[in-house]
Amino acid sequence: MAPTQPSSGFGTRAIHAGQNPDPVTGAVIPPVSLSTTFKQSAAGVHSGYDYSRSGNPTRHNFETAVAALEGGKYGLAFASGSSVTATILNSLHTGSHLISVNDVYGGTYRYFTRVAVNNGVEATFVDLDNADNIKPHFRENTKLVWLETPTNPTLRIVDIQAVAKHAHAHGALLVVDNTFMSPYFQNPLALGADVVVHSVTKYINGHSDVVMGVAVTNNKEVYEQLQFLQNSIGAVPSAFDSYLARRGLMTLEVRMQRHAENAMQVAKFLETHPQVEEVIYPGLPSHPNHELAKRQQHGFGGMVSFRLRGTLDNVNVFLGQLQYITLAESLGGVESLIEAPAVMTHASVSAEDRAKLGISDTLVRMSVGIENVDDLVQDITAALEKAY
Ligand SMILES: *Cc1c(COP(=O)(O)O)cnc(C)c1O
Repeated sequence: MAPTQPSSGFGTRAIHAGQNPDPVTGAVIPPVSLSTTFKQSAAGVHSGYDYSRSGNPTRHNFETAVAALEGGKYGLAFASGSSVTATILNSLHTGSHLISVNDVYGGTYRYFTRVAVNNGVEATFVDLDNADNIKPHFRENTKLVWLETPTNPTLRIVDIQAVAKHAHAHGALLVVDNTFMSPYFQNPLALGADVVVHSVTKYINGHSDVVMGVAVTNNKEVYEQLQFLQNSIGAVPSAFDSYLARRGLMTLEVRMQRHAENAMQVAKFLETHPQVEEVIYPGLPSHPNHELAKRQQHGFGGMVSFRLRGTLDNVNVFLGQLQYITLAESLGGVESLIEAPAVMTHASVSAEDRAKLGISDTLVRMSVGIENVDDLVQDITAALEKAY
């Protein structure tokens, strides 16, 4: 089979990049490579694999495919999205400083403020609604800028290109957590990011049955350092999880198209509902960063947040009455999930910070799945009826 080209279409790369039929049996889907060790033809002479933590064929297949989808040269897979963060932060030396967008993923915030700080790495959190806000926060020892866009759960959009310029002017690397968009809707490397990371647990695997992470870069030096740390720290995914994630990846294009289509319809429906105070979806012209989202993304994704009228009691009844839409944390699976950030994903954020970030008690975040959209709208309609 011909290797995929960078110019090949997304769906083609998603299916074929790194995925070569087994040369011995011809198996179109290569077998899961479970062996922890690899036979050498002479001492120190091997086929590219010697020990499975350092490198594994099934993991390599996945790493190659995600790199191809992000327009990057190098991919590295990890045991979770959080271990990607931990591994990247381990590349910073004591006395380093980093700047992060203020409403970064909760686990990332926790790592920065309660783990990295113990290794002498300090983080500053900045509201990046306007990219220029970052300017006064650079220090001589600022090594890294960490972005997430759209942010969670209020779906604000940060201008990746503008932040990349500021970061590079100060000699800092830019890392973008692209979990919410997936490689299908946004490619941060093309916008100037040095490293793009994903919680594979979400859209990339897409079936809510694998916890895994990945980092992609075009920078050889960064790649070699992260590969060294991947092997040294050892937070690698199992071959079986790598296989499942590779399998999930094959349908990423059609899943993302359907997620976005359904999300747009759900968002438009919610905008017309009398008990809905505000709908936050970057694909709606009412979204404050709609123009930036159109410029920076290839689509608007599957996450919709909205504010209900009334109180947390109304929200609780609403969430309890849903039939198909499941009350649970996480996102990006084929099934619709819904949650109340103030008492679930963001409960550990102080009430004061929640207020600053717009995470009110009546804010609801929905990961719109790929079910029949009429059923989703019907489910929401019926549950809202019971909640008021
Ligand atoms: C879930 C998530 C993570 C953490 O990934 P895990 O796989 O749960 O460790 C990081 N960033 C974002 C945006 C996420 O949604």
